[in-house]
Amino acid sequence: MSTVQTIWPPGTECVARYNFPGTTDQDLPLCKGDVLTIIGVTKDPNWYKAKNTVGREGTIPANYVQKREGVKSGGKLSLMPWFHGKITREQAERLLYPPETGLFLVRESTNFPGDYTLCVSCDGKVEHYRIVYQNCKLSIDEEEFFENLMQLVEHYTKDADGLCTRLIKPKLMEGTVAAQDEFSRSGWALNRKELKLLQAIGKGEFGDVMVGDYRGTKVAVKCIKHDATAQAFVAEASVMTQMRHNNLVQLLGVIVEEKGSLYIVTEYMAKGSLVDYLRSRGRTIIGGDCLLKFSMNVCEAMEYLEANNFVHRDLAARNVLVSEDNIAKVSDFGLTKEASSTQDTAKLPVKWTAPEALREKQTFSTKSDVWSYGILLWEIYSFGRVPYPRIPLKDVVPRVEKGYKMDAPDGCPPAVYNIMKQCWTLDVNMRPTFNALRDSLQDIWTKELYL
Ligand code: AMP
Repeated sequence: MSTVQTIWPPGTECVARYNFPGTTDQDLPLCKGDVLTIIGVTKDPNWYKAKNTVGREGTIPANYVQKREGVKSGGKLSLMPWFHGKITREQAERLLYPPETGLFLVRESTNFPGDYTLCVSCDGKVEHYRIVYQNCKLSIDEEEFFENLMQLVEHYTKDADGLCTRLIKPKLMEGTVAAQDEFSRSGWALNRKELKLLQAIGKGEFGDVMVGDYRGTKVAVKCIKHDATAQAFVAEASVMTQMRHNNLVQLLGVIVEEKGSLYIVTEYMAKGSLVDYLRSRGRTIIGGDCLLKFSMNVCEAMEYLEANNFVHRDLAARNVLVSEDNIAKVSDFGLTKEASSTQDTAKLPVKWTAPEALREKQTFSTKSDVWSYGILLWEIYSFGRVPYPRIPLKDVVPRVEKGYKMDAPDGCPPAVYNIMKQCWTLDVNMRPTFNALRDSLQDIWTKELYL
């Protein structure tokens, strides 16, 4: 059987699977884990011309690198693919058939609600071990205690420690994919040993953000320790693998630890969040050209998301970060979903969310992101003020629904205020696209209407 070799086009991203010292001057030496961009083919189909992240170019052997791909199965990625929820003892035994020593799954206990059961196939039989939940810890033998199921499974994978066998192979829940395997397969798994965590730089809702060093590059690392939260962030990371734009905070990779911690490694944005940047510098330091540049940066990122049918859902100045060279980049893809999916209203940032998205059976769309973008523009031109000042939160939505729009921030150029008002058009269909907004902003820039 012959296999057809696909040729990687220029721009394809790859990761080195092995070290390659190079044999001639034309070769590009590789260290396992290096990220490379293909820049062309050579006469020999087994070799490519490539460039590494510090700009060095040379030829590389195709079989030493792995193509980096977007992780598409975000919703199915699981940190606990062996967890089958509420199934009966009999169903568990059917799932572990045919017998294979070490094949295991975890289910919720039917006899003892709140506890779990570890089911393991061993010498043709299935053993069911009750996992008790006591004082916020899990245990099988009441000697070893664990914070979560992942830590428990990790422990018994290394050593049987009293069980009939050590855990060898997880029985995957139908429709799930092991997150770790998927990030490795697609070239996004980083090596924990090469990451140094240096100091905390921020507190997210669910975990610390640290500055770190990954193979000599300064990086930002979102560290998520709690297993259930980590599961939610797996989806965020998988969205980020599909996105590449100079105005989106770039994902560098992911580390999934067996005991349930997740590290999301991104480019380091030296000047922190846009809202803090604006508040701390203020109008004496930041000029109109800089405000318009930030507005254009965000608009370009959003135009890219629009073209790729992705909805951000939480666009706000707190979710935009500023790089060392003053480029604004959109971050926090936590809520980003492919366009037209719906979500729970309880946790929405009311002042930033479009009225139609706040209403019952709301549907977010790129157009609701346009509304939020208008609020973000207002934040930029008011140097980080909280929107709808002096209006109690409970009155915001009723007033907005009746057509109320915020006044222009002090000193805001009329052309920019005009764009804000267009973004706050109640009729979704009449709201501009990001593509049209980018044209309008470009026009303001060219005609120097920001002065
Ligand atoms: P987040 O959990 O993404 O909202 O981040 C919380 C805070 O951590 C932000 O407001 C920033 O101050 C900081 N932070 C997050 N990501 C980065 C990054 N890539 N570079 C620098 N600081 C960051």
